[in-house]
Amino acid sequence: MEKKVNRIAVLTSGGDAPGMNAAVRAVVRTGIYYGLEVYGVMRGYQGLLDEDIFKMESRSVANIIQRGGTILKTARCLEFHKPEGRKKAYENLKKRGIDGMVVIGGDGSFRGATLLSQEFDIPVIGLAGTIDKDIAGTDFTIGFDTAVNTAVEAIDKIRDTADAHDRLFIVEVMGRDAGYIAIYSGISTGAGNILVPERKTDMDEVIASLQERENRKKLVNIIVVAEGDEFGGANEVARVVKKRLPHLDTRVCILGHIQRGGSPSALDRLIASRMGYHAVECLLEGRHNVFVGILNNRLNYVPLDTIGKSKGKIGGEWLKLMKVLTG
Ligand code: ADP
Repeated sequence: MEKKVNRIAVLTSGGDAPGMNAAVRAVVRTGIYYGLEVYGVMRGYQGLLDEDIFKMESRSVANIIQRGGTILKTARCLEFHKPEGRKKAYENLKKRGIDGMVVIGGDGSFRGATLLSQEFDIPVIGLAGTIDKDIAGTDFTIGFDTAVNTAVEAIDKIRDTADAHDRLFIVEVMGRDAGYIAIYSGISTGAGNILVPERKTDMDEVIASLQERENRKKLVNIIVVAEGDEFGGANEVARVVKKRLPHLDTRVCILGHIQRGGSPSALDRLIASRMGYHAVECLLEGRHNVFVGILNNRLNYVPLDTIGKSKGKIGGEWLKLMKVLTG
C-alpha cells in the first residue's frame, strides 16, 4: 500500500477524558508500526501555535494506558478560533513536514479541526474523547464509560449515608447539555428521579413522586440531575423541594470533576485503542477529515464537518426505561 502520509501529529484538546492516554498510545504505536514519524503536540491547538511539538517514540507512551488525564495535556485555545491562528498552526506543522494529524477531543475540537483542514491542505482524523457522549455517529466516546462508573461508585456511597439518616440526596452529574451520564448512572443506581435536558423537567411531577414515596414509607431517595438540565442543576431542584417539602431532610451533592479523573475502565481503554489504531489507518489510506466512531460494533467514519449539526440524541426507549424503572 502506498503511504499517503509520512509524518503525523497527535494532540488532545478541549475537555479531558479518561482514556485519552490509551488513544495517544495507540496512535503512536500504530504510526511507528507502519514506519511513520509521530509527533506529540502539547496542550491541544495552543501547542501548535507555541510550537510545543516533540517527536514521540514507543517509550514515550510506555506505562500510560492505565493513567487518567492526558500526558499531552489539554487546553482551550482562543487564538485558534481566528483564521490567522489556524494559519500559524498550519505553518508550524508544514515547517516540520507533518502531513497528517489526529485530534482527540470533543465537538469543539472537531469544529476547529474541520476549519483547519478546509482552509489548508492537511488531512485530520478525529477521535471522540469526551465524557459527555454528545456526539452522533458513535455508540462510544472515550471517557464516558469511566465517568459513568465513577458516578455510580459515588452515588452508591451517597446512598449509604442517605440510608443511615433517611435523607433525600439530589446528586448532580456532568454531561454538559447531554443527559447520558445522568441516565446511565441514575438507572444503574436505582435513582428515584432522573432529570435530563432531553426531557422537560416538571417539578410538580417530581414533588408528587416524592410524596407518593413518602406515603409508602420510602424515606431514602436519590434524585440524579444532569448539569445541563434546563430546570437548572441540583441546587435549583433542591431549592424547590425544600420550599415545597420542608419536612424532608434534603441535601445536595455535586459530583463535579471527579468524573473526569481516574484510571480508565477496560472498555474505555479498548475503544481508545481501537479508534487510535484506525485513525492512523485512515491517514495511511488517504482518508480526509472524518472522525472514527463505532456504531453497532462496526467502524463508522463520520465527516467532521457534520459535527454540531447533529448532536447525539437520547432516544424514546431510554426515556421510557427511565420512567418505568424510577420512582
Ligand atoms: P471540546 O473539544 O471538549 O468540545 P471546546 O469546545 O473548548 O472543547 O474546544 C476545544 C478547542 O477547539 C477550543 O479551545 C478551540 O481552540 C477549538 N475550537 C472550538 N470551536 C472552534 C471553532 N468554532 N472554530 C475554531 N476552533 C474551535
